[in-house]
This record gives sequence, C-alpha cells and structure tokens, in this order.
Amino acid sequence: MSTSAPSANLMEAIVSLAKRRGFIFPSSEIYGGFNGFFDYGPLGAELKKNIRDCWWADMVRRRDDIVGLESSIIMHPKVWEASGHVAGFTDPLVDCKVSKQRYRADQLFFAAVVVDGKTAGYVSALESEDTVGELQAAAESLKRKKAIQGTLVPVLAKDMTEAQPDEIALIPSPATGEPGSLTPPRSFNMMFQTNVGAMTDASSVAYLRPETAQGMFVDFKNVVDTGRVKLPFGIAQIGKSFRNEITPRNFIFRSREFEQMEMEFFIHEDDDWAKWHRHWIDWCKGWLRSIGLPDSHLSEYDHPKAKLAFYSKGTTDIMFQYPFGVQELWGIAARGNYDLGQHAQASGKPQEIFDEATKKKFVPHVIEPAVGVDRILLAVLCAGYAEEDVKDEKGNVEKRTVLRLSPRIAPVKVAVLPLLKNKEALVGRSRALYQKLQRRHAVFYDDGGNIGRRYRRQDEIGTPWCVTIDFDTIEKPGDTFTLRERDSMAQRRITEAELFALLDEQVY
Ligand code: ATP
Repeated sequence: MSTSAPSANLMEAIVSLAKRRGFIFPSSEIYGGFNGFFDYGPLGAELKKNIRDCWWADMVRRRDDIVGLESSIIMHPKVWEASGHVAGFTDPLVDCKVSKQRYRADQLFFAAVVVDGKTAGYVSALESEDTVGELQAAAESLKRKKAIQGTLVPVLAKDMTEAQPDEIALIPSPATGEPGSLTPPRSFNMMFQTNVGAMTDASSVAYLRPETAQGMFVDFKNVVDTGRVKLPFGIAQIGKSFRNEITPRNFIFRSREFEQMEMEFFIHEDDDWAKWHRHWIDWCKGWLRSIGLPDSHLSEYDHPKAKLAFYSKGTTDIMFQYPFGVQELWGIAARGNYDLGQHAQASGKPQEIFDEATKKKFVPHVIEPAVGVDRILLAVLCAGYAEEDVKDEKGNVEKRTVLRLSPRIAPVKVAVLPLLKNKEALVGRSRALYQKLQRRHAVFYDDGGNIGRRYRRQDEIGTPWCVTIDFDTIEKPGDTFTLRERDSMAQRRITEAELFALLDEQVY
C-alpha cells in the first residue's frame, strides 16, 4: 500500500471531496455563491457537531473549574466601545481604483527593483508560501523587460503598511500589473453593522459579534454570583462570530461567518499567569491530538513582545501546517485584567472579586484560549486525507481515497452492511443491529453495490469501522460479524457485545 497526497493539489482534492460527499457547500450556490460564506452539508454538520461536542465535553463537563455560557450574538453597542472593537478592530485596506479589487495591506507585498544601486521600478505580490521568490522573479522579469544592464540586488519584501507616501504611486496593482491605481492603506472596521428596532438611524446601530469572548466578560458577575465558582475558574462558550474580512480565502480557513470556541480562564491578580498560560497551551495541543491531529503538523508561535497590545502579557498561537502554509489555528492570550477593567469603567459596575485571605477586592486576570471550529475542521480534513494504491480481491491495483478521521469526530462511526440485500435473514439481522447502534451512535446502513465498493464509500467519508453481516453470522454459532477497519483494512470477527465495547472505548 502506498500513500500519495501531493500538497499542491491537496486543497483542490479536499474542496472537491467536501462538495461531492456533502461536507461543505458554497453558501447560496444556486445564486453563484457568496464570498466568505459556507454551508455544512449532512456529513459536515455531523463532523462539526462532533468537534463542538468533544470540546464541550472535555472543556466544560469533564472539568470542575469551567462552566458554560451562551450569550447573545447581538449585544449592547457599548460592549464593543468598551472592548475597543469600535475604535480598533480594523484591518488596513488598500483599494485598486482601476480593477476595484481590495487587498489587506499587510497581505500585499512590494519591493523596489534595484540594479547597481539605482531603483528601476517596483514589483508586487500577494502573500503566499513564497512571496519573496515571487517578488524576486517579478524583479528579474522587469529588469529583462526594460533591458537594464547591471546586477540586480536581492529584493527586500515589505508590506503595504510600510510603503512610503511617494512609493505608493509607483507600486503596481496585482490586478492590473500597472502602477498608479493603488490607494494608501486606510483602516477598515471588520464588524458587521445592523440596526435594531424600527428606526434606522445612528442610535439604532448595533453589531454582529466579531468574537464570543465579550459575552464571558459582560456576564462575569452574573456567573460569579450564581455559579458557585471560585478562582481560578473559566467560562466557556461556543458560537457564531462574524467578521467582514477584506480577503476571505483558503476555503473555510478565513470566512466572514464562522464559529468560535473560546474560554476565559480567570486567575488571582497575584497568581503566576505564565504557569497558567503554559498550562492552556499544553491542554489545547493535547486536545488537538485527542481528535486526531498529528503532533508533526503542530507548532507554537510566540507573538513578539513589541507587537503585543499594551495590556497583553503574552500570546502564543498553536500553528497548523495547512497545505497553503503554517497558519494560526488556536490563539492563547494572557490578557491581564484589561477586559474586565474596561467594562467596569464603561458600565460603572465594579467587576471585582473579594479575596478572603487579604480582605481586599481585585479585578481578576485572564488567560484566553480562542479557536475556530471551521479551522479545526479544515485541519482534520487536511491531516486525514490520503489517496492510496491498494489491491482489490483479484489483485488489481486501484486507488482508494481515505479520510483518516479520529473515531471521536468521524461523522459516521459504523456502517452496517448486509452481504446481500435479497436474503431476508441477513437483512433482518443487519436491521436489528443497525437500530440498536442508532440509539447511541451515528451509524449508516448501506446495502447497495458490491461489498468492496461499499467499503470505499465509507473510507472516503472517514467511517472508522464497517460491520458486514454475512452467512457465518446467521449460520454459525456465536452471532459474529466481520469487522473491517478503515485504516489497516484488516478484517476480524466480532460479537455485538465486543462491538459496543469497542465503540465505548474509542468514541468518547
Ligand atoms: P487571524 O490573524 O488569522 O485573522 P486572529 O488572530 O484575528 O486570526 P482571533 O481574533 O485570535 O484571530 O480569533 C481566535 C480564533 O478564531 C483564531 O485562532 C481562528 O481559529 C478563528 N478565526 C478568526 N478569524 C477567523 C475567520 N475569519 N474565519 C475562520 N476562523 C477565524
């Protein structure tokens, strides 16, 4: 058996599988789609729900120090003023006046083309796996086109936020290849606005939340007063967030409507924040491994101190090796007591806790692990997808596509397959098993086509096990089935009790 999943085509293969097998569709597809929005089909909805459920079980139910919350998506506009989002939740935007394309200034790179110390022009490229290589190639091409003799200095890539005012008119637009049409960067607020109530004026403006976290801060006192919680403790929430991203891209990696799983872990002001920060980085990595992401694809990125917000003590991102590069999957931020402090000030309601030991009140500090469900889902598809050459029963080599999803999150746990669909005894036993499994698990019944083809269909959607009800089941003592494992394709006989025990152990 050999595995091949060329990285360049991997995204294409995953997008195609996601569409073909009903994981993910473009939103509003019959109207041509809607950039930055996606729908989850029958299998995608199951997979996403399993990711959420596993997180909730591990983060909330299986811990004594974390409680759950579900706050509203549209909150009082003052929340977003106090949190700093109205003033500062912006990305730098650059327009191309000719093509009407918009770019995030920090994702649009340029370089001066310098030959023998003289600037011969400028080149630009959108952020990619090899931005510098692209800029260098464009610089060489410009030198050739202008027939300039001399030595080209290696390009120095900068992004548009670093462009000097006199350089902007000289940098070519990636859309037209010509200079003169790019605007200077300006701040673009990414919050979606709406109006609440019958009047549409400035006083009715409200926002769709760009993160779930503020719900935990705004309800902090409510939880403390009702939840019987004691520091250190956390409040967790799963829910939709909305950001008017300038350039949604890489499938569901960066979209305009997405789902977040966030937790605010409150600690004493004198507690060792670095210890808790490390605790949560390790916990998050362990959790990602528990749903099947390989350690080899995970890494950590510490935000440089100079780039942190003034209140931040430290931020570490857990990065994942996506086919389009190593990118942020999960951010773990030590935010001091900035958020509660801001809300205390803006609302006039103290957000303090009374310390029995010192008899003093203080505003707790917080560690925030924040992750996107959609980014996890994309990561498990990328890590799990493989195309393999395997031999069929006759020894012929054929391709199988397999999604190696952890049993914890696989949309279908077991497929029940009667060997033949026209043998009543086989069908009866299969149906009975199927219905019994259905009470506890997501299972699938398939009696169409030869058994090899049915296995392949399940491989492609990540079903960890198939059970085949065959003549040995009904004719031999023991009432055993053939259990076929997705990854090894190994087969063995198993009883109903053993099957339930296996599921109990692996699906938690
Ligand atoms: P990025 O730098 O990629 O825009 P961010 O640092 O702004 O992300 P946070 O505000 O820390 O992201 O959000 C927490 C998590 O929410 C991210 O780690 C990511 O998993 C997810 N997330 C953020 N923006 C998006 C988006 N547009 N689409 C999908 N998931 C997102």
